[in-house]
Amino acid sequence: MKKIIIATAMASMLMAPSCTGKGEATAEPQAFDYNVDRFADIQVLRYKVPEFDSLSLNQKILVYYLTEAALWGRDILWDQNNRHNLDMRQLLEAVYTNYDGDKESADFKAFDTYMKQVWFGNGIHHHYSTDKFTPAFSRSFLEERIAALPANAAPANAAELVDVIFNPALEAKRVNQAAGQDLVATSANNMYAPGVTQEEVEAYFASIRKPNDSTPISYGLNTRIDRGPDGKIRETTYKIGGLYSKAIEKIVENLDSASHYAENDAQRQIINSLIDYYRTGDLATFDKYSIEWAEDTLSQVDFINGFIETYGDPLGMTGTWESIVNFKNIPASKRTETLSADAQWFEDNSPVDKQFKKEKVKGVSAKVITAAILAGDAYPATPIGINLPNANWIRAAHGSKSVTIENITQAYDEASHGNGFNEEFVIDEPTRELLNKYLFVTDNLHTDLHECLGHGSGRLMPGKEDALKEHGSAIEEARADLFALYYLADPKMLEIGLLDNPDAYKAEYYKYILNGMLTQLQRIEPGKEVEEAHMRNRKLIAEWAYEHGKDNNVIELVNRDGKTFIKINDYEALRGLFGELLAEIQRIRSTGDYEAGRAMIEKYAVKIDPALHKEVLDRYATLDIAPYKGFVNPVYTPVRDNEGRITDIKVDYTEGYADQMLRYGRDYHALK
Ligand code: ZN
Repeated sequence: MKKIIIATAMASMLMAPSCTGKGEATAEPQAFDYNVDRFADIQVLRYKVPEFDSLSLNQKILVYYLTEAALWGRDILWDQNNRHNLDMRQLLEAVYTNYDGDKESADFKAFDTYMKQVWFGNGIHHHYSTDKFTPAFSRSFLEERIAALPANAAPANAAELVDVIFNPALEAKRVNQAAGQDLVATSANNMYAPGVTQEEVEAYFASIRKPNDSTPISYGLNTRIDRGPDGKIRETTYKIGGLYSKAIEKIVENLDSASHYAENDAQRQIINSLIDYYRTGDLATFDKYSIEWAEDTLSQVDFINGFIETYGDPLGMTGTWESIVNFKNIPASKRTETLSADAQWFEDNSPVDKQFKKEKVKGVSAKVITAAILAGDAYPATPIGINLPNANWIRAAHGSKSVTIENITQAYDEASHGNGFNEEFVIDEPTRELLNKYLFVTDNLHTDLHECLGHGSGRLMPGKEDALKEHGSAIEEARADLFALYYLADPKMLEIGLLDNPDAYKAEYYKYILNGMLTQLQRIEPGKEVEEAHMRNRKLIAEWAYEHGKDNNVIELVNRDGKTFIKINDYEALRGLFGELLAEIQRIRSTGDYEAGRAMIEKYAVKIDPALHKEVLDRYATLDIAPYKGFVNPVYTPVRDNEGRITDIKVDYTEGYADQMLRYGRDYHALK
C-alpha cells in the first residue's frame, strides 16, 4: 500500500497544479481532459502548468507579461508564412463566425475542418509538409457565404483569396526544398517578395558577408528581401519603425512590463537587450542578448522570444517568430541532479569490465522545464525540447541551454491513454495497469539515465573514436540505453528516492521490448529495413534479449487470433541479459571491434519479418491515432485589487480550440 501512496504523490507532483495554501485554492475539474479536438491528421491536446501556484507573486507577474509578449507576435508568423495569410484569416473567420446554415451539411463540415487546419498551420499551408491545404467544400459554398457577409466583414481582395484557396497552382508549397529548382521563387513563404530569385539573394549575401569572421552575425535572420526603387535586392528589417512594427511595439511594451518583475539583474539585462534588438534590428545586439541568455542559469523563469528557427526559409537564413515562456521544474530537475551527483557510483557498479570503466566520471545535469505558453512557430505544434542558441560560435564560447519540456511530454503521455494503443498491443490487463501507473515516471527516468550517465560512462582505448564507422551511432545509443535499462531495475533507484516501487521498472522493460520488437515497425514503410540509429539500437537490444533468453523463456511471443503479443516471464532474468549485453557492447565500443559491432547490428537490428511488419501496420491502422499533435494554451488572468495592482494570476484550462483561435485573432491582431 505504501508504495502506491507514494507513487500517487509522485505522480501528482508532476501532474496536478498544487495548491500550496497561498491565496485561494482554485477548484480543479474532476478529470482533466487532455484531448481538445480532432480533425484531418491533427489531434489537439491541452497541457497543465504544474507548480505555477508555487511561483512567487513576482514570478507569476513576470510569467504573465512574458506570455502577453508571446501572444502579440502571432500575426508576424502568419504574415511570414504567406503574404495572404492575414487577409485569409479575416475572410475565413468571418465566414465561420457568421455561418447560420446547417452545421451538419457536408460543405460546412469540410469548411470547419479547413478552418481548423488553417489555424493549426498558422496559415494556408500544412505545418509539417508545408503543402497548401486542399479544401473539401465547394467553391460555390464559399462564394455564397462571402456574398452573405455583413458589409466590411470580408477583406477587399476576397475574390483573389478564393482563387488562392481553389487553384492548386497558386502558393502551392510554403517551403520548397526540391534540388535543382529556384527555391526562393518556388516557395510560397513571405520572406522574399514575389519576383525575387535565389541567385539574386545568394549574390547579395555573398557580397555583404565578412570573410574569415569568427563571430559572424546571423545574416538575414530578421529581414524580408524585396526590391528597392533602383531595382536592386535589399533587406527590410523586422523592427520598431520597420516591418511588423505594430506587433513588435506590443511585444516590447510587454517585455518592458516584464522587466520590472525580473528575478535578478542578469535577467533584467537579458530582457533589456532583447528590447534593444527589437528597437534597432541590430543582429550584433541579438548576439549580445543570446550570450546573456545562454549564460543565465540562475533564474527560474526563462523564455525565448524572437526570430529563432530557420526551417521556414528554404535558404535557412530568416527566422520565423516564436516564443515559449517557461520555468524550471525544480523537483524534476532534482532527478537529474541526484543522478549526476552519484555518477561515480554508477560507473563503479556497472557490469562492464573494469578496464573499460572511467576512473573519474562526471554526470551531466540537464534542466527540466514547465512551459507556461507556446506561441508563434511553437504553437499549436510544439517541440518537446529546446537546445539554443543556434549560432555555433556562441555555443562553443558561451555554452547553450538544453531543456526538456516535461509538462508537454506528460500531456502526450496522458492523452495517449485511451487511444486504444495499449488495448491493441499490450498482452493483458495487469500489464496495462503497470504501464498506466509507472510508464511515465520510468520513461522519464530512463531518458535521464541515458542522457546524464549513459553516454558519459565507459572508457575508449586510444584511437578508437571512430572505429565502429557507420555502426557507431547505433552502438553508442545501445550503450546508453542499456546503461539506463540496467540501472532502472537497481535497488539504488529506491534508495535515492527516484522510484518508490521495486516493480516500477517493469513498465519500462515491457514497453522497451514491445517497441523494439513490434510497435516501432509502424514508422517504417512496407518492404523497407530499419535504418535510423535509435530504432536500430532498440531492435538490437530487444531481439538480442529475446534470443538469448529463449532457453529460459524470458520473453515469449504469444499468438492470439493471428495477433502477436509480447509476454515477459522473467523480468529479473531480463535485467541480467541487459547487463550481459551492456558488458559486450561496451567492450565493442571500447576496443573498437568493428567486426563484432557489424555482425550484431546485421543480425538483430536491420531486417524485418515482412509478415510481422504487415501485422503491425494493419493493427496500427485500426487505431485512428493522429500523426500530428498540438496544443491549446492555458488562459492567464490577472486578479487586481482596488488600486489596480496585480495580486495574483489565475490559470484556466477550459478554453476550446476554436474559441482560443478566435480570441487570439480578436485580442492580439496587431497587423490587421
Ligand atoms: Zn542518446
